[in-house]
Amino acid sequence: MYDPKSLIAEEFIDHQEILESLAYAEAHKDDKELIESLLQKAAPKKTEQGISCAGLSHREASVLLACEDPEVLERMYALAEEIKLQFYGKRIVIFAPLYLSNYCINGCLYCPYHSCNRHIPRKKLTQEEIRAEVTALQDTGHKRLAIEAGEDPVHNPIEYILESIDTIYSIKHKNGAIRRVNVNIAATTVENYRKLKEAGIGTYILFQETYHKESYRRLHPTGPKSNYAYHTEAHDRAMQGGVDDVGLGVLFGLELYKYELCGLLMHAEHLEAAFGVGPHTISVPRVKPADGIDPAAFDNGISDETFARLCALIRIAVPYTGMIISTRESQAVREKVLRLGVSQISGASRTTVGGYTEEQRPTDTEQFNVSDQRSLDEVIRWLMEAGHIPSFCTACYREGRTGDRFMSLCKTGQIQNCCQPNALITLKEYLMDYAAPDTRKVGEALIAAELENVGHEKVRRLAREHLAAIEEGRRDFRF
Ligand code: SAM
Repeated sequence: MYDPKSLIAEEFIDHQEILESLAYAEAHKDDKELIESLLQKAAPKKTEQGISCAGLSHREASVLLACEDPEVLERMYALAEEIKLQFYGKRIVIFAPLYLSNYCINGCLYCPYHSCNRHIPRKKLTQEEIRAEVTALQDTGHKRLAIEAGEDPVHNPIEYILESIDTIYSIKHKNGAIRRVNVNIAATTVENYRKLKEAGIGTYILFQETYHKESYRRLHPTGPKSNYAYHTEAHDRAMQGGVDDVGLGVLFGLELYKYELCGLLMHAEHLEAAFGVGPHTISVPRVKPADGIDPAAFDNGISDETFARLCALIRIAVPYTGMIISTRESQAVREKVLRLGVSQISGASRTTVGGYTEEQRPTDTEQFNVSDQRSLDEVIRWLMEAGHIPSFCTACYREGRTGDRFMSLCKTGQIQNCCQPNALITLKEYLMDYAAPDTRKVGEALIAAELENVGHEKVRRLAREHLAAIEEGRRDFRF
């Protein structure tokens, strides 16, 4: 029985509810009146506190996804773009993944780290190696990491992850620092989530891979991850352990995308219903080639067009949730979906264990092939030239603006007074410490122009003071 408030996976991701929603969507996909009302409902509205957005339910979003009218599609893209600009401005937050270990006891059919893969070298970074990797990352300008590890209670126990987080936060090299560590590790216990919270993590990210239970079982034949309910209920346990920023994601290509979007939105609705706060982020990975992995083997690959449509719909349906895109996607695809609502991207990623300290891009332990292989400086310059503001901001969680505090600031639009100046201040740090001369020139002009868009006069004055102080060598200001 479908119940978004339930803490039982099969009740908040109810298969029957998804099938009925998809049938409803199919039956109403040409219902012009309904579609018009959905587009109206999802549009940003002026309120006393600022601007607000109603979002869409899983069923409503499914109708828009099923609609094939090119005019409606254009309107959806325009709406996604409008929401993006309204709530996130031109800012794009930058991060890098850090692979700690590829030891894994799971049997995920799409992942090269699966335990039956005997010909990839297995590697786990020592604390000394983590220091070297983080120093290399800091030297390019990164301030925010997502740590990744396979699931292996012997090689990668929670103590190893916690020690690694401590090491990462402790490294201060030149003006470098990692100010936020997000964590993408296997589903675990409330007690372990509490320990992660105490270690100072930002977001706990876990991809569902697929919401379709039968497919999930087939794709995860062995290992702890084969337990659908334990995996699907992980974000609830994270919330119970005090991690109030959690990230969702689907690995697109495994199952039918219409089913997945519906499940993903039901999951977001569940978090809101059960804990009063929706997901902090949604990631949209697609299956990519990797050692022994051919994406074509999974039948449900989606075109770039469909991918863009999914991104736009996520933006419209859950306007207050950040959207993440990785270097799995090419420059061209990233360019397109950045406009449609993506708010965070990784840059200059190495998806190998120990990859950042190697001169040549290594591929032997790569988790997936990286499509966008540009340097961080190239990515930063490209973003700026395309009209975005790259941001290395980590202020919210360091100021305790997490979970429902963050969401309520977001929903009233007040967060804008922090985000815009924080983006400019952290970009300035990047330009001073790491940028190539040409990138710096482009960045300085952008900061000068965008400072004028800081609405609050006092904040604008303070931002100007901080920028001058950064010029003189001081660092780490925030609103
Ligand atoms: N072991 C943890 C887990 O199972 O959730 C950590 C996550 S894993 C290192 C990161 C993510 O990479 C997975 O959740 C999966 O969605 C994605 N991934 C695995 N194989 C992939 C592939 N061939 N192409 C693209 N993404 C892949």
